[in-house]
Amino acid sequence: MARKSDREDYFSGRCILVNGPVIVGAGPSGLAVCACLRKQEVPFVILEKDDCIASLWKNRTYDRLKLHLPKQFCELPFIPFPHNLPQYPTKHQFIGYLESYARHFKIDPRFNESVSSAMYDETCGLWRVKTVRRNESGVEYICRWLVVASGENAEKIVPEFQGLDEFQGHVTHACDYKTGEVYRGKRVLVVGCGNSGMEICLDLCHHNATPFMVVRSPVHVLPREILGKSTFELAVTLSKWMPLWVVDKILLSAATLILGNTQKYGLKRPCLGPLQLKNSGGKTPVLDTGTLSRIKSGEIKIVPGINKFLHGDLVELVNGEVLEIDSVIFATGYTSNVPSWLKENELFSGDGFPNGWKGKAGLYAVGFARKGISGAALDAIKVAQDINKLWRNETKQKSHSIGVPCHQRFLIGTVGTDRSIEFGYISNHLDLEFTPVLLNLFFCQPDLGVSDYT
Ligand SMILES: Cc1cc2nc3c(=O)[nH]c(=O)nc-3n(C[C@H](O)[C@H](O)[C@H](O)COP(=O)(O)OP(=O)(O)OC[C@H]3O[C@@H](n4cnc5c(N)ncnc54)[C@H](O)[C@@H]3O)c2cc1C
Repeated sequence: MARKSDREDYFSGRCILVNGPVIVGAGPSGLAVCACLRKQEVPFVILEKDDCIASLWKNRTYDRLKLHLPKQFCELPFIPFPHNLPQYPTKHQFIGYLESYARHFKIDPRFNESVSSAMYDETCGLWRVKTVRRNESGVEYICRWLVVASGENAEKIVPEFQGLDEFQGHVTHACDYKTGEVYRGKRVLVVGCGNSGMEICLDLCHHNATPFMVVRSPVHVLPREILGKSTFELAVTLSKWMPLWVVDKILLSAATLILGNTQKYGLKRPCLGPLQLKNSGGKTPVLDTGTLSRIKSGEIKIVPGINKFLHGDLVELVNGEVLEIDSVIFATGYTSNVPSWLKENELFSGDGFPNGWKGKAGLYAVGFARKGISGAALDAIKVAQDINKLWRNETKQKSHSIGVPCHQRFLIGTVGTDRSIEFGYISNHLDLEFTPVLLNLFFCQPDLGVSDYT
C-alpha cells in the first residue's frame, strides 16, 4: 500500500483518471474482461506493453502451433469460433478470431504502455498505475478497480547451467523459435518435454534436423484423441460423473492401448494420474500430436538432464555422456511478471500467481487459474459482473453534492473516447468550475477531493 514518500511524485507526469477499471494486458484474458464490461456498459481502460493484442500468440509462438485444446474450450465469452474453422485452429486462425473479437467489442488498448508499478493508495481509496512507454515519459492512471490480466506466461524461464556462457552454439528459448528451417541438418538439444518441447522436436524432424530431448522428470503423454473424441473433452465429461482418480485410470489405460508403454522410450509417468497431477498444481499432460512416433522411431533421442556445457559445442549429461550439438532450445516454460510491478501481497503471493480471482480494494485477477483460455473466460465473466455491480452503486452515490476542497493544483482535462479524462496540472490553482465535474465523475467517495492526491 502507498506510503507518503510514494505519493510525493503524484502528478509528476501525465495523469489520467479512469472512470472504471484499468485492465493490464490485452491477451485473451484482458479482451474477455473488456468484452464483458462493454456488454454491461462499464467504461474501462486497457493497457498493453506490446504494440498489438495477443502478443504472446503473435510474437512468441512457433509457426506450426495449433490450439492444444479443441476450439470449444478456447472460446471467449459471447462469440463462438466460426463453424468453418477446424477443431484445432491454427495460431493464425486463433489470432484472427481474437482480432475480430476486439473489433466487435470496440476494444482499443493503449499499446506500448508497460505497467511498471501499481499500488493502492489507502488515503484516497484508489489505485495508482504507472506505465512506461518507449522514448516517452510515463503516464499515471488513477482508478478504483485494477484487473491483472498480464498472463501466466509473461516471462520466459531460462535455467542456469554451468558453462552455458562459453557454449559456442546457438542458444534460444521456445518463445523465439519460429520454425525448424534454420536448424536443417543441425544437432539440436531441446531442453524440456512439455507440449512446446515435444512439438518443437517434431518440427525439427520435419526440417531434417536431429533433435535430442532432455527429459529430467516424469511426464504424462496422452493421445490427443481417444476413439475419435478429444481426450480433453472426454476427461471433462467423465470428471463430471466420477472421481478424478477413476478418470485418470481410464485415460491411462486408453493411453497405453493407443501409445504403448511410454516408459520404454524414456518417458516415465508420474505416480499421480494426469488429472490429479494437474489439479494439484502440477504439470499439464502432453497431448501427443505425432512426436511419440518420432521418439519410437529414434528420430528424436531422449536424453537425461544436463550436467554442464563444455567448451566449444559440447554438453555433458548427468549420466556422464558427452554430446556434440549445434544449438540449444530451452522449452523450459514461462512465469508471471506480476511481482515486478504490483505492490500487493495478499491476492498475489511472491510467485506472481493469485490465490483467487478477487482481492481487496478493487483488485482482480483474470487468467491465472492454470485452466487455459476457458478458465480465463470464466474469470472474466465473474470479474466483470462484480465490477459492474460496484461501479453502478458507486456511480449512483456520486450524484451527491460534493464540497470543493482546497487545492494547490490546477487540473485541466479532456474527455477521451474511452470516457477517461486526461489531466495535466499547470498551476497552483483550483479550477472551481471543472473540479466538481471531475469529482462527480470519478471519485468514488463523495467527500474525497483532488487535494487528497497531491
Ligand atoms: C505455446 C503455447 C500454446 C498454448 N496453447 C493453448 C491452448 O491451446 N489452449 C489454451 O487454453 N491455452 C493455451 N496456452 C496458454 C495460453 O498462454 C493462454 O491460455 C492464453 O494466452 C492466456 O491469455 P492471457 O491473456 O491470460 O495471457 P497472455 O496471452 O500472456 O496475455 C497477457 C498480455 O499482457 C501483456 N502484459 C504483460 N505484462 C504487462 C505489463 N506489465 N503491462 C502491460 N501489459 C502487460 C502481455 O504483453 C500480453 O499481451 C498456450 C500457451 C503457449 C505458450
